[in-house]
Amino acid sequence: MAQIIIKNLRKDFGNFTAVQSSSFTIEDGEFFMLLGPSGCGKTTTLRMIAGLELPTSGEVFINGEEVSQKRAAQRDIAFVFQMFALYPHLNVRQNISYPLKSQGMPKAEIKSKVAEVAAILGIEDILNKSVGGLSGGDRQRVALGRAIVREPAAFLMDEPLGALDAEFREHMSQELRTLHDQMGATTVYVTHDQLEAMKMGDKIVVMNHGSVEQFGIPQEIYDWPASLFVADFIGSPSMNFLKFHGTVSPGDTNVLLGGQLFDVPAQLQGASGNLVFGVRPEHVSLNPNSRFRAKVIATEYLGTTQIVTAETASGVLKARVPANQIVNVGEAVGLDFDPRTITLFDETTGGALLSKANRKVLDHG
Ligand code: ATP
Repeated sequence: MAQIIIKNLRKDFGNFTAVQSSSFTIEDGEFFMLLGPSGCGKTTTLRMIAGLELPTSGEVFINGEEVSQKRAAQRDIAFVFQMFALYPHLNVRQNISYPLKSQGMPKAEIKSKVAEVAAILGIEDILNKSVGGLSGGDRQRVALGRAIVREPAAFLMDEPLGALDAEFREHMSQELRTLHDQMGATTVYVTHDQLEAMKMGDKIVVMNHGSVEQFGIPQEIYDWPASLFVADFIGSPSMNFLKFHGTVSPGDTNVLLGGQLFDVPAQLQGASGNLVFGVRPEHVSLNPNSRFRAKVIATEYLGTTQIVTAETASGVLKARVPANQIVNVGEAVGLDFDPRTITLFDETTGGALLSKANRKVLDHG
């Protein structure tokens, strides 16, 4: 059981800053995702939580205790790497018992703990097998067993499923989440896969260039992205962006975009500069009567839905529409979207102008 607090964490490698002023809290029992593109500082952050890397500045608290300068062995956590390394000369039981043996635990106690872990993982029948002949899935379960048996306060996982093929990865991700729910221990999980983060995580930290871009529950990050980066990184296909250069004059209650009027919430009146309207493909629909005209340049059939790519005077847009709607490449269409589903960004700072609070005003106004 562990609550982990990260405060202004920073890591420099020479002149290069890999992680800068990161702050977030991982609550006890959460499945917590560190998400971002390659090189954004996820692994370095995880290694600082583990004590495998010491921060240049800032603090890490585990259950209220400051552990920032403590080494890994002094922290009650288990690190599960991408490559599940097992001891090849030991059988499954010996691999799982290894950490307890090293702690000097009495034999009878080890036996009962290994039996308990094997039951959780459903590997009772392979305890006496050599690890050499095991399937990939069983190898992962044994490696997890070795981490679980120590009953650490938290599990830290760095892209644990990264090397697996898609189908097996899907299966193991469900298994990991179920295991987490069963055990109730805190899990911190690094991934660059936004779908994996959304599916598995209770909370997500989105990182970019060493900084925390946004921190929240998956739905909040999807619906209320705090920046253009998050809006673009989360979602597949990602959000559509339409640039609007100008000023929303004080007193203006709507602006004209692509021939369509959009309501402007009170807080945004007076916003000026290079503005960007963001709308997710599932919030764009085809409406022959819309004044916002477009030409279909591609369609992509996905079974229950299809992605229609259309060129407008304001740029290319993607719409997710029902698969049975007849749409032809080259066809002229009208596009529609509900203004309430739009996020507004400042192109210069990259930050969202239309926050959750602002959106509520629009909803109720
Ligand atoms: P990936 O998914 O590719 O591992 P990541 O988000 O986990 O990416 P990190 O491994 O934390 O990123 O690395 C962040 C940056 O810090 C990268 O540019 C990396 O090259 C750099 N870096 C990491 N460790 C060191 C080190 N020991 N010495 C110098 N630079 C490092």
